[in-house]
Amino acid sequence: MISQKHLEYGIHSSVIREVFEYGVQRKAEIGKDNVFDFSLGNPSIPAPKKVNETIKKLLNDSDPTELHGYSLGPGDEGVRKAIASYLNEKYSVNESYKRIYMTCGAAASLSISLNALLNEDDEVIVLTPYFPEYRVFVEHTGAKVVEVQCDENTMQPDVSRIESAINEKTKAIIINSPNNPTGAIYSSMVLAEIAGVVSDKEIQYSHPIYVLSDEPYRELAYEVSVPYIAKYFKNAIICYSFSKALSIPGERIGYICVCERCEDGDIVFKAICGAGRAMGYVCAPVLFQKMLPELLGITSNIEDYDKNRREIKRILDECGFKYIDPQGAFYIFIKSPSGSALDFCEEAKKCEILLVRGNEFGAPSYARAAYCVSYKMIKDSENAWKKLAEQYGMKGKDND
Ligand code: PLP
Repeated sequence: MISQKHLEYGIHSSVIREVFEYGVQRKAEIGKDNVFDFSLGNPSIPAPKKVNETIKKLLNDSDPTELHGYSLGPGDEGVRKAIASYLNEKYSVNESYKRIYMTCGAAASLSISLNALLNEDDEVIVLTPYFPEYRVFVEHTGAKVVEVQCDENTMQPDVSRIESAINEKTKAIIINSPNNPTGAIYSSMVLAEIAGVVSDKEIQYSHPIYVLSDEPYRELAYEVSVPYIAKYFKNAIICYSFSKALSIPGERIGYICVCERCEDGDIVFKAICGAGRAMGYVCAPVLFQKMLPELLGITSNIEDYDKNRREIKRILDECGFKYIDPQGAFYIFIKSPSGSALDFCEEAKKCEILLVRGNEFGAPSYARAAYCVSYKMIKDSENAWKKLAEQYGMKGKDND
């Protein structure tokens, strides 16, 4: 008998993909300009020119056997050194390249870290609304997900709820800021309060509680800056990705950093190497590792996302939809006027607007719109949003 757990993951693939696939089919039926597909978090801004230039230079100038060969399991040493120096300079920290492990993006960073840390029956706290893949990554290890609802109005973490959820089985907390799906950036004040609670609980239960910082959207912040997690939490593990910052999700490149103050950090790092090995990663793609030293600190033109953000907000305001005001990433989380995300997504679909229901994110009264689309599509969607608002008898301009 094959693994039922893995069969389940395969059959019930991501709901985001389902909507996207419907969109592809619908566009073929009625024309691509008539479908307003806000389903997928696929970067719509091209990678900076320097990405291609660096790759070309590497292809022209490098020893091909080295460029296309394996690197060490944790990654190329020069690349890891460059990343550590970059972090140290930017955030005034003291990370060691010896605790940086190159991965195939944030998904791999998270799943490797979780496999390294978790034993059966351990618990991992996720802050609701949360990226649905967390459940797959955690439950795959035999551990359990514990959802802790964020503040319903601000979508900032609720410190007292986190405090009540931590118990002796709590091994880790996943933090994702800027957040998918809400666009919230967790404030330094809230992070400091959570850190206080976590540190007290670590003393109470005499074991570390690791904070995994899922950071594909670190560079996508519009008006506020993103606090560096390891400044707040002693046992921080950064799960970074270049997918969105450089618009290269297909290249599959990111890293794990076991931060300087992490208890038993060298042992945790070894377990990460072991988990990567057991999961068959071997090493992250070497060509894309080697381009990174030239690209650290560079991002795609995120002003275009900001322009999209302001336009979608304007349209939603005009129509009277309520939403969480996004500060980062490229998602806007819209409250269903009826209170049901399922109903809202169905009604939106009738107006050719494709949204992702919030149910799988743990927020059944919200729907997510990814605004990493063309500005033109957002502009062109205005009448469809108005039609959708009319279905709900909304008068407009009452978002608060
Ligand atoms: N974490 C979150 C919150 C995401 O939204 C995504 C992708 O959309 C990932 C992780 C995975 O990103 P990557 O492409 O770096 O694996």
